[in-house]
Amino acid sequence: MSARIIDGNALSQKVREDIAQGAAELIKQGVQPCLAVILVGDNPASAVYVRNKVNACEKAGFRSLKFTFPVEVAPDEVFDKIAELNADPSVHGILVQLPLPRQFDENKVLEAISPEKDVDGFHAENFGLLLQGRKSFYPCTPWGVMKMLEAENVQLSGMEAVVIGRSNIVGKPMAVMLLSQGATVTVCHSKTRDLHFHTRRADLVVAAIGKPRFLTGDMIKPGAVVIDVGINRLPDGKLCGDVDFESAREVAGAITPVPGGVGPMTITMLLANTLESARRVAAAKA
Ligand code: NAP
Repeated sequence: MSARIIDGNALSQKVREDIAQGAAELIKQGVQPCLAVILVGDNPASAVYVRNKVNACEKAGFRSLKFTFPVEVAPDEVFDKIAELNADPSVHGILVQLPLPRQFDENKVLEAISPEKDVDGFHAENFGLLLQGRKSFYPCTPWGVMKMLEAENVQLSGMEAVVIGRSNIVGKPMAVMLLSQGATVTVCHSKTRDLHFHTRRADLVVAAIGKPRFLTGDMIKPGAVVIDVGINRLPDGKLCGDVDFESAREVAGAITPVPGGVGPMTITMLLANTLESARRVAAAKA
């Protein structure tokens, strides 16, 4: 059996067209969605992520602002910029690209962003709302996965789902979102005793580990849906996921590729959150 490939690029393009249309409608009402991005230091991967986000904004008709700071910047300078952007009514979303240099306390930085402009969904207030099943800005990567599952008509209610990884930005919110849709969720991590036992009985596996080709075909239940969140750079410069795509596709029922799977959906959901924030501002004005 060869698994159905879940095409993140195609879905992303479709959703981005709707977002661009939404932005055009808001612009007619005098509100142009605007995302401000803060980049600290010279991490090349972060620079690429920021460039992709800025480009995606422009293609969707959003305004984007980019602020760069040198690696040794005093944290107060960044906090001042965040405060200025919080107070600027023309800015609807603020994103600080992670990771930050050592002198920063990342949680403090994320919590300096107004929850109303926290389009990454990392602020503790938004995370708390998500936990309670209330409306909030959802973290973009797991929300993108939910959109992919919805587009694939995956019936989550009653499903056995295994999430590998428990980070605040992917694994934990992913588990909460699946739980809220009625899946029975097991969260695995580096201390899990028998990972195979869990993954082999799962109808859905989400891999968010950060280890190239870690989840192999023999760890997957035949017919399962496999979502690969991982982005790993191999020594030859190519990208690969946390799933061993070649062996997994022979067992799974459906699988996301890397690249072209979850990655494009992450930026798409960032645009969706920014549009939603701008809509709230427009509604409050009306
Ligand atoms: P992270 O913070 O490093 O978390 C990795 C998780 O994997 C941890 O919970 C860790 O467990 C677990 N883990 C590590 N080794 C394991 C093992 N041998 N068995 C089981 N679990 C293990 O990473 P992250 O930020 O969540 O990102 C995960 C991956 O997704 C990375 O490849 C990252 O590049 C990618 N990512 C992609 C996107 C996208 O847009 N597609 C967005 C964000 C991240 P412990 O907690 O016990 O250490």
